[in-house]
Amino acid sequence: MKKKSPTLEDLTQRIKAFRDARDWKQFHNPKDMALSLSLEVHELLELMQWKNGRELEAHLNKNRRALSHELADVLYWVLLLANDLKIDLPEALVEKLAHNEKKYPLHKSKGVAKKYNEL
Ligand SMILES: [Mg+2]
Repeated sequence: MKKKSPTLEDLTQRIKAFRDARDWKQFHNPKDMALSLSLEVHELLELMQWKNGRELEAHLNKNRRALSHELADVLYWVLLLANDLKIDLPEALVEKLAHNEKKYPLHKSKGVAKKYNEL
């Protein structure tokens, strides 16, 4: 039987406990947290820099652990930032998807890699 995945709320509580145990909240303002999020996204990109096609695919397969760690670092900051700014992420995502469905109607966007204002 597959182990039940923790919910976003479970993960957020775990991250907060990690932060609180280290007394790091004092350093966390929204700007520096967004900066940390951005830096982690760049670490993710660094794993892929200068590689394309099959070489990139092979590299990512070989470095799955590093890839998962960088994605986890990104999620860490997304969850903590949303927590501190009191944003309900599931609700925000559902709302944004509904917004994107209007921005990118199927009849115009299916199979088309263009920004909404170019459709
Ligand atoms: Mg990292």
